[in-house]
Amino acid sequence: MVRGWDWYGDGSVVLVDIPLACCGLEIEAAIPETAVEVDGDTPARHRVVTVSGTITTALADDVAAAVESQRTIGPTTVVGFGACPAAGGPYWDAYSVVKGLDQLVQVDRFVPGCPPTPQALAVVIAEVRDEFPR
Ligand code: SF4
Repeated sequence: MVRGWDWYGDGSVVLVDIPLACCGLEIEAAIPETAVEVDGDTPARHRVVTVSGTITTALADDVAAAVESQRTIGPTTVVGFGACPAAGGPYWDAYSVVKGLDQLVQVDRFVPGCPPTPQALAVVIAEVRDEFPR
């Protein structure tokens, strides 16, 4: 089962994270106590899928497949969370690192930082909820 979080507990936004490195810990830290853990495949008005961390070439196909799988469930905003999914981060010149999530899939937003703050994710989710009202 893919873990998901009903961020507001009302089905408006479900977060699914694909954690690959340190930025995944920032995502964990961002999840509010009021969020409800759900199956990541649970339908919602909108889903936010974050890819948090360094994308190695070895995992590239799996990451792309995981993101596209989420898109098939319903309306989805794909977020590259951190410098690594933006452009490879500190490993930008490593042969084994993908130089950006957008080389694999369509990305709707990038959140800068190494790592970004947990609050930055909360802002993105609030914006998504406002963009896709009932
Ligand atoms: S952006 Fe920085 S903190 Fe985030 S996964 Fe990459 S190296 Fe780690």
